[in-house]
Order: sequence, then C-alpha cells, then structure tokens
Amino acid sequence: MGSILVSGGTGFIGSHTCAVLLNEGYSLIAADNFSNSSPKVLDALRRLTGRDFRFYEADVTNAGCVEKIFAENDIDGVIHFAAHKAVGESVANPLKYYSNNINASIVLARACCEHGVRKFVFSSSATVYGFGNPPFAEDMPPVFAANPYGMTKVICERILTDTANANKDFSVILLRYFNPVGAHESGMIGEMPGGVPNNLMPYITQVAKGKLKELRIFGDDYDTPDGTCIRDYIHVMDLAEGHTAALKNAPEGVSVYNLGTGRGTSVLELVRAFEAANGIKIPYTIVGRRAGDIAVSYASADKAQKFLGWKAKRTINDMCRDAWNFEKNYGE
Ligand code: UDP
Repeated sequence: MGSILVSGGTGFIGSHTCAVLLNEGYSLIAADNFSNSSPKVLDALRRLTGRDFRFYEADVTNAGCVEKIFAENDIDGVIHFAAHKAVGESVANPLKYYSNNINASIVLARACCEHGVRKFVFSSSATVYGFGNPPFAEDMPPVFAANPYGMTKVICERILTDTANANKDFSVILLRYFNPVGAHESGMIGEMPGGVPNNLMPYITQVAKGKLKELRIFGDDYDTPDGTCIRDYIHVMDLAEGHTAALKNAPEGVSVYNLGTGRGTSVLELVRAFEAANGIKIPYTIVGRRAGDIAVSYASADKAQKFLGWKAKRTINDMCRDAWNFEKNYGE
C-alpha cells in the first residue's frame, strides 16, 4: 500500500481523500497550516476511520518544514492539495496566489526529487480549459486562465510536467477536478468555507440552515435550456476515490485525468434537486451574471475510466443529501 503524504489534508477535498486512504489501508502523513480548515477535522478523521496517522501543522511553502517531514517519514507518494482557491480573492491579491500556490508545488516536488519519492498527484482544476467547448477532454491544451487562481493551476501543471520529463524517477499525475460537492456519508467531515461561501452548494446549504437569507443566482440569460449555467458536479467521495485509483493505476511519467461525471446540471436544476432530496425550500432571486463565469462546463470522463478504472458512482441526489447532512449536523 505504502505511505502517502497529503498536503492540505484537513481541507475539503484533502480530508475526504485522507478518509479514503485510511480506509484502504495506506499509512497517512497529513500536513496543513489550517489557513482554510479546522484542527477538528483531525479528530473526526480518526473517529471516522478508526485509524491513526501523523499530522504536521506546516506551511508547505516552507522548505525547512517540508524537509523535516521528508526526513522523518518514509514517503512513497505525495498528494498535493494545499493551495488557496478563491477566484475573487485571487483577482484582488494575485501575488498571494502566485507565491503560495506555485511555491508549495515547487517545494514539494523538489523534496520528492531529493528524497527519491516517485509519485506526485497534483490537485488541478477544470479551470485550465478556460472558455473552450465542453465536453472538456484531457488532450485540449490548457489556456491562459481567466484569473490568477486558474493560472496557478496552469503554471503548476507545467512546472510538474517539466520536472517529471527531466527526472525518470519522478512521475506526476495531474487530476483536473470539476465541481466537487457533498460530504462524507457519515456527516463527520464536509465543506467548511470561512465566511460567506463563494461556491453554489455551500451557499445553498447555508440558505437551507437559515444562515443566509436567499440564494442569488448569477444570471438566467445564458445559452442553456433554463438560462442558468451548467456545471459537472461530482460527489467529493467519488473525487477522493479517484486519487487512490490514480495512485494505483496511473502509468509512470506524466499523465492527466479529468475527475468529473461527464454530466452537466444547471444552477436551477441543482436547486430543485436539493429541495427534492431534503424537503427544504430554497428561496432565490436572479441577479446579474458573475464576471468570469463560463456558460457550460462538463468533463469528458472516459479517460479516467479507461486508464484508472475509476468512474463517479454517486448521484446528484446523493450530493444534495450528504451536503445537507453535514451542514445540518456539523456546519458552523
Ligand atoms: N452560483 C450562483 N450563486 C452563488 C454561487 C454560484 O448562481 O451564490 C453559480 C455560478 O455562477 C456558477 C455555478 O453556480 O454558474 C457554480 O459556481 P461555483 O462557484 O460553485 O463553481 P465554479 O464557478 O467554479 O464552476
């Protein structure tokens, strides 16, 4: 099985991936600086899986901290999640994003090369496809992304690709996520955005809880059947399972896979699905378009199925039920 270092291990996708790694028998070393997550996740993960693991409160842009982690552990692979991810903030403060997200990837990749760690899984995003025409397939070239957050994904993909091409003992797996939502079925871990959420599902769950008054839907005049934007929502547990499939099945060298369902759902359809799954009305108003939104985004999901033997299994109903189950019980 091996031991895996997960950077950003207490974040939304990181924590669910840690749960899957522990359940599948991997040894886990997790690191996080809690910049957008809570230490409570550590205890939840231990209770949820009945397993223990090492944790470092560490900023992985700090080469000294990273060296200590690599020196103290026998690491077989790295899954690198730790990154800032708010699009709007990245436009307002690009240097924060470029310096944090790019440095973290460089520091971790360098430590892997120096310590003979052969596998590096990188948390990328469908944002690298920009405003192209879906379904997005892996052989479409990454574009100049519309915002600094997206550009950090494009640049890190390139840095890691070049590094793997130059080192035959270092393999890189780039995973491009579509729209992860939902939570672990137990409701013990989930998405905990600080402040007012930027993303649709956590906004909906906070409206359901009464923390926010109503959802604002950003535009109903897109060229889509109901006029609202279409996204490929994927259950975070399916996404997490995609990471262990990648560790097990990706070939050596550089490889890239979409992690999506291949199906699009509009904003209004997601609202209706949430209402039906949970029996709660979500009040909303239609407001103007949000800058930078693409009308339609969904994955071509064939490559991951063919090469990783992985396919998203959970439904939109599961995503809505589990997102609400977490928010209702544990959301702050
Ligand atoms: N959205 C919305 N209201 C919100 C948040 C999001 O209407 O409060 C819409 C947004 O315009 C987009 C979709 O929901 O069409 C998904 O947005 P999200 O930020 O979750 O993901 P991304 O933009 O990264 O696809």
